[in-house]
Amino acid sequence: MKNLNETLTDLVRKILHYRDAGKPCIICGKGEMGKYDVVCHNIKQSKSTQFKWHLHNVALGHSKCNSIEEADPLLSLSHNLNMIERFGADEIISIYEQRNNTVKFAKSDKESLIKELRVTLLCHEAIFKNLK
Ligand SMILES: [Zn+2]
Repeated sequence: MKNLNETLTDLVRKILHYRDAGKPCIICGKGEMGKYDVVCHNIKQSKSTQFKWHLHNVALGHSKCNSIEEADPLLSLSHNLNMIERFGADEIISIYEQRNNTVKFAKSDKESLIKELRVTLLCHEAIFKNLK
């Protein structure tokens, strides 16, 4: 049985594999995302835990881009610009401004988020299958 954090991480990964399928890498802006691509966080997990499972802080990207981004300011800039294009400047700025307000999720918050993400996953799954 998975713990709550693992369940949340797994749900986000599954949602993104439907939501971002066929879109370009969120970091370099190239290619077409598929099953081998990884979940990339704009605000990194190490800086804040509150945006770890926020669907507007994550998108699929190349595994290589994700691993070298932090050492490459241009890739990091490209990631930000692609996030703004996909989710809107207001949303990305709002997340950025809150990045240091560390919010610790209680067990009940995680359980609510799991319910919410399960519904989101069902919706993305249905849309994905209907488009095929
Ligand atoms: Zn890439």
